[in-house]
Amino acid sequence: MEKTRDVMTLAHELGHGCHQYLSAKQGLLLSSTPLTLAETASVFGEMMTFRTLLDDSDQETRKYLLASKIEDMINTVVRQISFFEFEKLVHNERKKGELSSDQLCDFWMKTQSESLGPNIELTDGYKYFWTYIPHFIHTPFYVYAYAFGDCLVNILIQLYDEGLPNFKESYIDLLKSGGSKHYSEVLKPFNVDLKQKDSWQKGLSMISSLIDEFEKTV
Ligand SMILES: [Zn+2]
Repeated sequence: MEKTRDVMTLAHELGHGCHQYLSAKQGLLLSSTPLTLAETASVFGEMMTFRTLLDDSDQETRKYLLASKIEDMINTVVRQISFFEFEKLVHNERKKGELSSDQLCDFWMKTQSESLGPNIELTDGYKYFWTYIPHFIHTPFYVYAYAFGDCLVNILIQLYDEGLPNFKESYIDLLKSGGSKHYSEVLKPFNVDLKQKDSWQKGLSMISSLIDEFEKTV
């Protein structure tokens, strides 16, 4: 089973490699991608590999693969959004005055328990766990990039499945553009407007369909 994770990690990093290779023509200053598109090729590659592994697996391995993919997705999307909610609360309250560590712990518990729901009991020591996320200090609001990247790839994968004309060409062009264009520009050929809530719903629906698939295996 550990080997499966190794394969997924390799697929992820090779995705970064392809992205950098294709965007190299943009030159040193424009080849590196903005945060919004930084994980597109890597997560896309991972998803394609995941599907191939899933198709070739027996029932027990399928269960394992689906469970770990769902956990990864929930971690990347739901958990990171709860981190974002914590940061938003902290920054808004800080405008009104200095915050005590007790207040920060309260904000953390509030946002995390909202995200995890009533069936997960958070013990008292968990209130300090906001201190272990370096992004809160060094790169405020970075956490959104994880949720953004994961959902964007889910949207693209579905368009690929639906047989969007010229998908491959548009996708290669997206990767080639590196950091030279705004994400809204490179997504135009896919008819994706991320300002629309429906677009995000398309991304999230992929997570729920994987959960449905997992339920069939147990
Ligand atoms: Zn990565």
